[in-house]
Amino acid sequence: MEPIFDAIAPTALNVVGETRKFQVRRVFCVARNYAAHAREMGQDPEREPPFFFTKPADAVFPVADDGSTVWPYPLASQDVHHEFELVVALGSGGIGLNPEQARRCVWAYAPGLDMTRRDLQAEAKKAGRPWDVAKAFDASAPVGSLTPVAACGWLECGSIELEVHGEVRQRGDLADMIWSIPEVIATLSGLFELKAGDLIFTGTPEGVGAVAVGNRLVGRIGELPPLRLAVGSRV
Ligand code: MN
Repeated sequence: MEPIFDAIAPTALNVVGETRKFQVRRVFCVARNYAAHAREMGQDPEREPPFFFTKPADAVFPVADDGSTVWPYPLASQDVHHEFELVVALGSGGIGLNPEQARRCVWAYAPGLDMTRRDLQAEAKKAGRPWDVAKAFDASAPVGSLTPVAACGWLECGSIELEVHGEVRQRGDLADMIWSIPEVIATLSGLFELKAGDLIFTGTPEGVGAVAVGNRLVGRIGELPPLRLAVGSRV
């Protein structure tokens, strides 16, 4: 097949201890998966079935471990929020998985940010419109290096914390997820056929808030390599 345009390079993430890269297929995100965050967004954190939105694979913005990454402040918003999350990377998939089968699809974990144009999201919610412009913009999914399950084991508890300019803004524990990772993957597999290369953002703890040009963000999840970036000037 001869393409009309130059081949489009797939988004790829670094893997700790590997020279090979993880190619991203699709990006799924769980909304309101920590009770305290659901409450801060004005929702009752009852255990309703998880719900999802997506980002395009090319919205994934790989973040270098050395802290040199500058993230571009996006277009069209005056209120861009950080949502720091554990990102799960699948090494296999399927449909109609049960939670035990779903757990075995997890290949690696990374720290990630579900960046959100909160002002545009508020307008969309009010008008009953889709969230794409709020959630799926260019570079809306900064993700650090992946750590394989083979190296770190299953992550089911452990601290998750985001500092903005030296101040802790978000703090929680992975054990506080309303829906566990196997439950999230199992539910998703009833909606989409999951495959190797899929990423799942698993929800954010409380403390979301705005970022400003020049801010430095440091996100830590247990023993995973931290996510470090600076917020660059407006696109
Ligand atoms: Mn989120």
